[in-house]
Amino acid sequence: MTETSVPRSATGHLPVGVAIIGGGPAGLSAGLQLVRANRRIAILDSNRPRHSATLKSHGFLTRDGAPPLELRKLGREEFEAYPTATFAQAIAHEVVPLSAADALAAGFPDGIGFRVRGSGVRGAADVEFLARRVLITAGLTEELPPLPMIRAFYGTALHSCVECDGFEKTDKPLVLIGETSDVFARALLISRFSSDLIVFTNGADTVRPEQEAQLSRIGIRVERRAIDDIVGERAEMTGVRLSDGELIPRVGGFVRPRWHAPVEFLGEQPIDRDDWGLIVVDDRGETSIRGIYATGDIVPPGPQQLIIAAGNGARVAARLNMDLIRGALGVGQIDE
Ligand SMILES: Cc1cc2nc3c(=O)[nH]c(=O)nc-3n(C[C@H](O)[C@H](O)[C@H](O)COP(=O)(O)OP(=O)(O)OC[C@H]3O[C@@H](n4cnc5c(N)ncnc54)[C@H](O)[C@@H]3O)c2cc1C
Repeated sequence: MTETSVPRSATGHLPVGVAIIGGGPAGLSAGLQLVRANRRIAILDSNRPRHSATLKSHGFLTRDGAPPLELRKLGREEFEAYPTATFAQAIAHEVVPLSAADALAAGFPDGIGFRVRGSGVRGAADVEFLARRVLITAGLTEELPPLPMIRAFYGTALHSCVECDGFEKTDKPLVLIGETSDVFARALLISRFSSDLIVFTNGADTVRPEQEAQLSRIGIRVERRAIDDIVGERAEMTGVRLSDGELIPRVGGFVRPRWHAPVEFLGEQPIDRDDWGLIVVDDRGETSIRGIYATGDIVPPGPQQLIIAAGNGARVAARLNMDLIRGALGVGQIDE
């Protein structure tokens, strides 16, 4: 098929090998690998990364301390330097499977394909892509405990990623605020940085008595009373005020948000999730919907680090590329 005879989408775009939903480190890294595999790739990104609350990102080899926005800018520039790359500032709102006939008509040799629609953000145009495969790298949205001032300190005094921001908290009087069953493990991790740690469960019954006893042995106290608010002066956090009025001085620490996987664009299509709501994938990165892959923070075990998201993006891109090759030749997904 010549390029002029290939059907275009409603917004005039040529069919793509993969439409990637989310232009964070996972999506950009996957996109880079796939354009370098001579694939036509579209990334749709709504430009609302979870880490926008922070000014510096830590632990990305060669970029330790770089602002997260700079990392994304560099990644986008590297992706867009390839002629088969399209980066759309758009929020994907619909991903619909094509019939086998429509997929074949779009030039997709294995009869699998999707229509991906996005609404332009920041004045960008709406987009529609016909894609052989979809890769979801949309990250997570997070819900912090409902304390009026918590957002004001999130990303500066309070963080969610211990590996990312623990070092800067060394030997300080810290909090861990969390209402989920994994706060015990997080407290152990934070104890590497400071032994002056109080775990606030905000009234939730999520630390078992034997876990509390273990924490107590290393000097960590569990505070089960409900929290009224985080207090501070200007950008400096100074403490945690409990509902009974007691003020406990603390300068910062960690919070365990609840995370949500934003895949509303799938509509009614059922997709497997784990107990935390994360999108379950097989070891190639494919979800329970044939042709739709996912990687980055949105898949188990959930939020990790920039370099891990980027690495997983590259890993899944290789599997996707092989799926596209095998699909075109009709030789199955894996060797028997
Ligand atoms: C406050 C904070 C500080 C952090 N600091 C560090 C650090 O110092 N070092 C470190 O290594 N890690 C850090 N992290 C973790 C790191 O940011 C994540 O692990 C990483 O960004 C995950 O990458 P991702 O590509 O999976 O998702 P994200 O980076 O979250 O990117 C997802 C992208 O998808 C887009 N998107 C979502 N839905 C749609 C849609 N429907 N259509 C189009 N686009 C969509 C979003 O706008 C976003 O741009 C931090 C996280 C937070 C919250």
